[in-house]
Amino acid sequence: MRILLASRNPGKLREFSGLLPDFTLLPWPTDAPEIPEDGAFFRDNAGQKASFACDWWQGNGAGSVDAVLADDSGLCVDALWGGPGVLSARFASGLPNDEKNRRLLAMLPPDAVRTARFVCVLAFMPMPSSVLRFFEASVEGSLAMEPRGQHGFGYDPIFMPDGFDQTFGELSNDVKASLSHRAKAAQALREALANLAMGR
Ligand code: IMP
Repeated sequence: MRILLASRNPGKLREFSGLLPDFTLLPWPTDAPEIPEDGAFFRDNAGQKASFACDWWQGNGAGSVDAVLADDSGLCVDALWGGPGVLSARFASGLPNDEKNRRLLAMLPPDAVRTARFVCVLAFMPMPSSVLRFFEASVEGSLAMEPRGQHGFGYDPIFMPDGFDQTFGELSNDVKASLSHRAKAAQALREALANLAMGR
């Protein structure tokens, strides 16, 4: 099955190649327009991205794809009323990643409760049916006092999943792939596709 990923985020692309090894993943073409995401919720954005990518591909895409997959995800920090949340990609945009992470940590008072979670909503659209299916998952954790580690991308260096003293930036890619928000959502997608293939 050939799946068009409605994303150019290299971190997401790398993770999906490991999480969906049985599928051929096509990244969003470099000459294609930016994919809009102006919804108020992860689910709105995931659906918007998948529908936009599907429409664009049908008019402009080179070759055939069997489905479109969109991921909307982000970091929700309890002490920041759930922020940056759906605005995670736009928070302090333009700053290098390490500075962005430090700026986010600086927004927390020293005695703040540091609990947080990563949330991922996948929108999957078989083509040409245009019926959307959603797969949602999260991973609970807390924020480190400062960025640590070079693995992963985005907010990984400041997020410690529950049960670990290390951040996703310090933990191996394999550990992240066993428990992350994206890994769990991708697992639900794989199960749904397997059931579909078996006619269940
Ligand atoms: P969007 O889904 O394109 O709106 O972007 C999500 C943003 O959330 C990314 O650009 C990252 O900054 C952040 N994010 C989402 N998932 C992860 C993750 O697994 N690790 C670190 N940061 C993430």
